[in-house]
Amino acid sequence: MLEVQQIVAGYGRLTALKGIDITVRKGEIVFVVGPNGAGKSTLLKAVSGLISPTSGDISFLGKSVVGNSPEHICRSGLALIPEGRHIFKTLTVQENLLVGSLVRRNSSEVRADMELVLDTFPILRDRLNGIAGHLSGGEQQQLAIARAILQRPSLLMIDEPSLGLAPLVIDQVYESLRHLNKNGLTLLIVEQSTRRMMELANRIYVVRNGNVVLEATPDNLLDERDLDAAYFGFASQPA
Ligand code: ATP
Repeated sequence: MLEVQQIVAGYGRLTALKGIDITVRKGEIVFVVGPNGAGKSTLLKAVSGLISPTSGDISFLGKSVVGNSPEHICRSGLALIPEGRHIFKTLTVQENLLVGSLVRRNSSEVRADMELVLDTFPILRDRLNGIAGHLSGGEQQQLAIARAILQRPSLLMIDEPSLGLAPLVIDQVYESLRHLNKNGLTLLIVEQSTRRMMELANRIYVVRNGNVVLEATPDNLLDERDLDAAYFGFASQPA
């Protein structure tokens, strides 16, 4: 579904991605993890058209999207929830959700999907007319996910869904992501922490200093120490 090939990208003279390869297949949950400043958010920005790579290719559903506008990429079925969620805090929950459906034309489908997301996130149904800025951090993350789902993406990319949330709330957010994936949504998730990945991921990429330093599946990752070694950049020690 998504093929990132040898992407080089950055900001002015700073090269944040130094030739990254990432693959996401239909139906998968793929994690990109790495420490602060590794280039994870830059990768999502490049895929969603917010920055242009200087070389390499990104293809989505078989077509190159390099050079396409973020709007065009979004309409082709690729949604991004950026770090910090970016909900409209002064609008109501319902208004935020309606913003998510603006790219859609078929209003009866939108209504059906609205019911689906409100079933997935019952707390949002309870707060439909409440101001979004009054929701807790976890509820705001659920709203950001629900709003993105209303765009009906084929692939949803989320930048650090667990950022700033309590462990129990992170579990709830991940449970809803697992549920959405079971219902056909493909996910590319960026996280700083490697917790929770093992039970969810089809594939894991560890990114450090603009490079992929490890690609693994939970099955072929023999030892979590290999993951830690790649993440922190030291050789894994024998037991
Ligand atoms: P974090 O987990 O801290 O968000 P990250 O892995 O997402 O880190 P990026 O945000 O992609 O890392 O940053 C990669 C590099 O690009 C870092 O050196 C960062 O300082 C730099 N960078 C990120 N955004 C900008 C920007 N808008 N302008 C200039 N440099 C930037």
